[in-house]
Amino acid sequence: MQQAVIAIHGGAGTITREAMDPAREREYTEALEHVLRAGQRILANGGSALDAVTEAVRLLEECPLFNAGKGAVLTHAGTYELDAAVMDGATRDAGAVACVTRLRNPVLAARAVLDHSEHVLFAGTGAEEFAAAQGLELVEQDYYFTQARHEQWQRARGAAGMALLDHDAAALAARNNPADPIDPDSKFGTVGAVACDSRGNLAAATSTGGVTNKRVGRVGDTPVIGAGCYADDVVAVSATGTGEMFIRTVAAHDVSAQMRYAGLPLEESARRVVMEKLVAIEGRGGLIAVDRDGNVTLPFNTEGMYRGFARVGEAVSVSIYG
Ligand code: ASP
Repeated sequence: MQQAVIAIHGGAGTITREAMDPAREREYTEALEHVLRAGQRILANGGSALDAVTEAVRLLEECPLFNAGKGAVLTHAGTYELDAAVMDGATRDAGAVACVTRLRNPVLAARAVLDHSEHVLFAGTGAEEFAAAQGLELVEQDYYFTQARHEQWQRARGAAGMALLDHDAAALAARNNPADPIDPDSKFGTVGAVACDSRGNLAAATSTGGVTNKRVGRVGDTPVIGAGCYADDVVAVSATGTGEMFIRTVAAHDVSAQMRYAGLPLEESARRVVMEKLVAIEGRGGLIAVDRDGNVTLPFNTEGMYRGFARVGEAVSVSIYG
């Protein structure tokens, strides 16, 4: 039997110690620990990697600190459009939703697509109708609102009129407001989870509000299988960062390809993607990955990434900075 393990992320970006006050740091740390323990419990009870990553991402969506579900960033039009994906490495089944505006938990909709549809990716109202028919909760757009994201959006619109990674946006804010831990113009707040269960099966899930001030209808890497989320019998990967570059490098799948075709170990495969291939096209962000032997790697090319992992029977480990 394999020692099961789960890893999670809450986004990458300009997250610096200087800009983070102790109370805020504790808030993030405790939120990540809480989610890791929940995932750890599922795995300890013999649950599947797929169930562990789905529940971990659902909890991260419920937490307003992160850019997914409640606490999502705003589009240029001041609306919310969310993306999510989940993939089961054992079967290669996958489900994803893009540009959804009324689902409380996009990851549960992605999971419903995986479980109950012959399709892989649903977008917009069709995704919402499918999820509602599966009994999932619909909400008004107000549900996603947080004051912090709203102010971040106003700054992003005012600053350059450009789209920003969630944690970068927080760092921009921190320059004006030292109490804000993350650059509001250079932070990526997507959430994700990867796990290897006691049977050695792998799974990945990713969910996001996208990048601050994005154009309406823009879809990033998160719901694109192989870009922001991927799992097979070799590795499970969840990414966060400038989604366009993760799509162009097919980042998550490339970790698997290097392991499978070039025989590289997990850490080196992930390092090449994050530190070389993404950097070569100015992609910023990071990823979390676990292989079928339970090895974990959490590389990022930004100042920080909210991240952690927990092996069954061991203490949880959470980090923020580089
Ligand atoms: N990758 C996400 C996107 O481009 C953003 C993020 O990771 O924060 O939609």
